[in-house]
Amino acid sequence: MNIHEYQGKEILRKYGVAVPNGKVAYTVDEAVDAAKELGSSVSVVKAQIHAGGRGKAGGVKVAKGLDEVRTYADEILGKTLVTHQTGPEGKEVKRLLIEEGCDIQKEYYIGVVLDRATSRVTMMGSEEGGTEIEEVAAETPEKIFKEEIDPVVGLTAFQARRLAFNMNIPKDYLSKAVKFMLGLYTVFVEKDCSIAEINPLVTTGDGEVLALDAKLNFDDNALFRQKDIQAYRDLDEEDEKEIEASKYDLSYVALDGNIGCMVNGAGLAMSTMDIIKHSGGEPANFLDVGGGATAEKVTEAFKIILSDASVKGIFVNIFGGIMKCDVIAEGVVEATKQVGLELPLVVRLEGTNVDLGKKILAESGLNITAAESMADGAEKIVSFVK
Ligand code: ADP
Ligand code: MG
Repeated sequence: MNIHEYQGKEILRKYGVAVPNGKVAYTVDEAVDAAKELGSSVSVVKAQIHAGGRGKAGGVKVAKGLDEVRTYADEILGKTLVTHQTGPEGKEVKRLLIEEGCDIQKEYYIGVVLDRATSRVTMMGSEEGGTEIEEVAAETPEKIFKEEIDPVVGLTAFQARRLAFNMNIPKDYLSKAVKFMLGLYTVFVEKDCSIAEINPLVTTGDGEVLALDAKLNFDDNALFRQKDIQAYRDLDEEDEKEIEASKYDLSYVALDGNIGCMVNGAGLAMSTMDIIKHSGGEPANFLDVGGGATAEKVTEAFKIILSDASVKGIFVNIFGGIMKCDVIAEGVVEATKQVGLELPLVVRLEGTNVDLGKKILAESGLNITAAESMADGAEKIVSFVK
């Protein structure tokens, strides 16, 4: 799960990680009031969307005085911001962060991730802050330094100091930088983050080390024990189809293609996407209905696939183990009746009660193409949508 910058900063502040003073605003008047309350000579008006790259896209503006705060808030609120992370459709700005402007000496990068190669939480730092870290990694990888963290010991002060040295943080800022890193690591572990990225981390003219930006992502599987994080969820920022799917406990991820897939099991879902691609098609989604799906769940899954206007055909690929093929067949028939399916539908069933399942489909009178194998099914649906 993803949260907004201002929410991330609220969490950081609680852990003693320094951030500028700021307030969230939902309207232009609230933005002006927030700036008044902050009372700083310079304020920064920042679009709050679940995507980075806002600065370059006009979503971060430095305002001198309340009139400029009003102008910029009015300009950014309600605007659809297109950044390199939003995709071409962009994201509508519904919230702003009004923040104290700070006197930046230099911008740095700090990120905490789980490194799958070493199975360890790793803190990365670079003096190339403010820019895309992917670019730094591609062009000057020697400027990114890493500290692998022992899970039992945690991030040690000497590791934090070494990282700060490597990042060329001036020595007057060292103790604050170390405190910052230790706090950030604690947030990552205690809050079950999957990413904690501060870009930029800055040193300021008055001797502070601050997080000017904050990107915190959380492991969905740990949300049950992070009630305060759950409360930060902003459904406006999420794909409607994915929200609907999560209500029915379906794993659904929207993709760019035009072949809707309904599959049971994540592994089979992945290989179904592969075989569609192999046959020259493009999947419109990843969808795992799970092991013990009911006819109702299958119906909902179908509706979600069909609510995607770019879907031109559907491939149902089910291996009935715990899941029985007749239940899937009933769900498919029920859903096609409810939604009035007009698109080509290819169904491949295998496993428990497969004959009964096939019989239900054949007797339904619906226009369903049966496939003999996964490859056969993929070829059929690809030829139908072409
Ligand atoms: P994004 O990464 O989405 O572009 P950031 O929060 O990193 O957004 O802001 C972009 C740039 O704006 C920063 O690199 C920094 O130079 C400037 N900036 C952001 N917040 C402040 C602030 N409070 N004071 C001064 N400059 C800021
Ligand atoms: Mg940033």
